[in-house]
Amino acid sequence: MKLVTFQTDHGIGVGAVGPKGIVDLSAIAPDMLSLIDLGAEGLSRASALIGAADKFLDLTEVKLLAPIPTPRRNVMCLGLNYAEHAEESLQAKGVKVALPEYPMIFTKGTNSINGPYDDIPFDASISEEIDWEVELGVIVGRSGKNIAAGEAMDYVFGYTVVNDVSARDLQWKHQQFFKGKSLDGCCPIGPWIVTADEIADPHELDVSCRVNGVLKQNSNTRNMIFNIPETIRHLSAGMTLLPGDIIATGTPSGVGFARKPPEFLKAGDLVECEVENVGKISNRVVAGA
Ligand code: MG
Repeated sequence: MKLVTFQTDHGIGVGAVGPKGIVDLSAIAPDMLSLIDLGAEGLSRASALIGAADKFLDLTEVKLLAPIPTPRRNVMCLGLNYAEHAEESLQAKGVKVALPEYPMIFTKGTNSINGPYDDIPFDASISEEIDWEVELGVIVGRSGKNIAAGEAMDYVFGYTVVNDVSARDLQWKHQQFFKGKSLDGCCPIGPWIVTADEIADPHELDVSCRVNGVLKQNSNTRNMIFNIPETIRHLSAGMTLLPGDIIATGTPSGVGFARKPPEFLKAGDLVECEVENVGKISNRVVAGA
């Protein structure tokens, strides 16, 4: 199932995208978090509703919002989770290259969440070093603590595409990543959540990012250093994961700041992030957005 949060003149709802259009799932849940909270029961009711549906909304008639427009808490992110990205980042900073022994973890504020096709605000007086980072996003399906790697995939509800847009100057200036990773609109996600059952192997998906049509990042989730079970094991150790939590699994090489010379986004640029079999998001950088 491809689950969306959509907006029409009548309001905001949750739905599923099928070949004939969107099936409204508001009879089951008012929003995506409530649907995730229902667990397997919610998904089986959704598939029954989809099977019986005779009314469909055309994708062109609705606006797709971030699948989880207001997460319960910050997006949890892995840094340096692809070896080639760890190398380019550390080299660009003049630091000795060593792969992380434990996952590097930081978060992005919920205010940074943005829709799959919405503008990324640009204000040069705040940051002149806005950078792209395509990532596979994992949506947690149920509450859990001290989850063993062998059971971790049972906690995955589905997948989405994340652009971990980063203000590099703020990221370095303030030492901790939180501020530089949390400017408004700097976490476009979507366009939907693909439920876990539809992705045969989440560690075998191409991930790519294009800026103004030019390929900047191109890798595969098989190159992650800490795979999804290991990531969930580390995150959940002594810290309860909640349904609807979003985990951004890290970006591959090809980010702007590590390029020679460095490249950053400017007003007017179009950033397209794609994860194979999950989807593609497309966001314009806009001054004053
Ligand atoms: Mg990232």
